[in-house]
Amino acid sequence: MISRPDRDENPELVKLERVPCPLCESHSYYRILEGRDLLHGLPGKFEIQKCSQCELVFTNPRPTLESIDYYYPSHYTPHRTAHCSENISAPGGSQSRFRSALSRLGWFLYCNLDRKHSYVPISNRHLLFRGRTGVILDIGAGSGEFLNCMRTAGWSVAGIETSDNAVRFARERYGIELFQGKIEEASFEEHSFDAITMWWSLEHVHAPNDVLRASIRLLKPGGMIVVGVPNFAGIESKLFGSRCFGLDVPRHLLHFTPHTLKKMLQHNGFNVHKIYFDIDSMVIRESLRYVLREKQMNPDIMDNIFAVGACFVLGIVFAKLRRSGMMVFVAKRA
Ligand SMILES: [Zn+2]
Repeated sequence: MISRPDRDENPELVKLERVPCPLCESHSYYRILEGRDLLHGLPGKFEIQKCSQCELVFTNPRPTLESIDYYYPSHYTPHRTAHCSENISAPGGSQSRFRSALSRLGWFLYCNLDRKHSYVPISNRHLLFRGRTGVILDIGAGSGEFLNCMRTAGWSVAGIETSDNAVRFARERYGIELFQGKIEEASFEEHSFDAITMWWSLEHVHAPNDVLRASIRLLKPGGMIVVGVPNFAGIESKLFGSRCFGLDVPRHLLHFTPHTLKKMLQHNGFNVHKIYFDIDSMVIRESLRYVLREKQMNPDIMDNIFAVGACFVLGIVFAKLRRSGMMVFVAKRA
């Protein structure tokens, strides 16, 4: 990794690499979009390509593994904040509690209106494991809040994270010691986990096939993997294009659709059992914030109670159409 002082002062040190399709390794792809870093405003334009063979959409060229750290400044949100409903009272104050309450209301409505339960809210993702315990590994554990929820629910927990800040946060706030590095470097015993989770992390990795192959070796027979990623086929993506919050270039190297994520999981030895679509309206809200900012309007109007409520309803509608901006796959070893 480039050291932080050099990284902050010299974006020229970022190296880009042009790669074949990260799923099928085809060199045949075509440009469908171009994006910028709208989250942190860091320099660079990034092309989004679609593979002609398997249809995977990916950022190409992309920052190399050695220089991608430049695009994760110390205030990068997933490395610092807590999302789980158990922890929601501390960092976000009344607004987070309000959103958590909306999320719980959505969960209640959905579970009572739709028996297929094709929805899981981000803030309640631990409920996917309700009634079960075991040993769980969270890859890309961020600040450790999900593992803290799972530990509270009786699970033995382990996590992997590359960010210094996130590892420190997890240790200081939750007393959880994450392995810092790549999954291939960790010394976990084979077939030792009942579940492996990847919450909004697979889209960040340079070699997704390697990560999934390593994961399958670590799972017990019958073990499950849960993968949550933005949905490039979601309505938000169609509406907002390069301004879609879920695109998040260049941190997101992969832009999955239900079709391509299923293909990647199957390619690496998993059978998909269930696909959930998240009703959390964050992608809608934050994409609209980007649009307002671009039009030099006040993006804070998205915090208005009516805007939050409208986005909440849209989130439910998009999820019911199975076209929301976030999706969660549950798969098992084939
Ligand atoms: Zn491909």
